[in-house]
Amino acid sequence: MHAELGATPARCAKTDGYNYREAKSMISAYHRPTKLAEALALVARASPPTLPLAGGTQLSRSTRGAVEVVDLQGLGLNEILIRGDHLEIGAMTTLEQLHRSTAVPPALQQAAALEVPLNLRNAATVAGTVVCADGKSTVTGVLLALDATLMVATAPSRSAGAGAPSTSGARGNPRTSTAGERRVGLGDFLPLRESISGSLITRLTVPQNPRVEFEYVARTPKSPPIVFVVVATWPSGRVRAVCGGFGDAPLLALDGVGAMGLIPALRNALHDADDYRGSAEYRMAAATVLTQRCADRLGLALRGQETQV
Ligand SMILES: Cc1cc2nc3c(=O)[nH]c(=O)nc-3n(C[C@H](O)[C@H](O)[C@H](O)COP(=O)(O)OP(=O)(O)OC[C@H]3O[C@@H](n4cnc5c(N)ncnc54)[C@H](O)[C@@H]3O)c2cc1C
Repeated sequence: MHAELGATPARCAKTDGYNYREAKSMISAYHRPTKLAEALALVARASPPTLPLAGGTQLSRSTRGAVEVVDLQGLGLNEILIRGDHLEIGAMTTLEQLHRSTAVPPALQQAAALEVPLNLRNAATVAGTVVCADGKSTVTGVLLALDATLMVATAPSRSAGAGAPSTSGARGNPRTSTAGERRVGLGDFLPLRESISGSLITRLTVPQNPRVEFEYVARTPKSPPIVFVVVATWPSGRVRAVCGGFGDAPLLALDGVGAMGLIPALRNALHDADDYRGSAEYRMAAATVLTQRCADRLGLALRGQETQV
């Protein structure tokens, strides 16, 4: 994926119509705070435009104007902790840490390995990845299937006003949020990524009770997926299914009780998934097989669904 960065938005925009030869990389000042409050005060400034710097794999590539950056390395946000029945993944956790952690589900480890090659995984962080994610982001796809929640911190002067992200849709989190920190469901965050401009993601929380399976098709085993499917099941019978490999972000196809309609829901989500890497028809056919594989491993019965659309 290529991305352009505007002067102020927190998310990576897409490349369409952007001339990379004319792009100028202009990081005009570098800040490295050691306290979250200092970092928040810096990113909350309306001027000069100031962006959080995580692994820098995207941010250091090119910007359209001068920006100041706030390196988050000194904030200690890079741990993966088990808290009750949730995993807490620090925003600055690298994709390689995620890949190697035995605390995270194997599907998330595998998704981290696929996201970018090793050198980039050592730098790229989980928060930078969800901010920049396009539809090929396998880490974002697995986190979305697991109904992950972001904790978003905002400087006190901004937390009551514009720019405060929505909390709707966020589900149970074992930690009480501190003042100026909000829970945002990943599903709510992805279509409105600009809404966290001036704020910082501090960590992600992921429930540990679902089982999750991930399958993909790609040109080679290490290429970005043309289509992927993630299915998560909860002990309560809840089933969430996500597909990706195209478009702006992975798509939530199903969130319900039981697996009824699972394949039709995924096929519907892929109905318009036509691009230069694959046709919608191909993706729907492949997703049917991938979903069946996930379901088999999860013990979900899908009999007869292949023919329903
Ligand atoms: C060669 C290459 C190929 C790639 N291929 C793909 C691909 O196929 N699909 C895909 O989805 N991605 C792809 N990417 C993007 C890659 O996944 C991201 O570049 C990376 O994960 C960003 O993480 P980072 O920590 O380096 O973020 P940075 O580059 O440091 O930051 C990225 C953005 O996130 C913001 N940000 C970072 N941390 C926080 C935080 N804690 N709170 C708020 N905002 C924050 C930054 O301000 C910036 O806007 C590719 C990148 C490269 C270099």
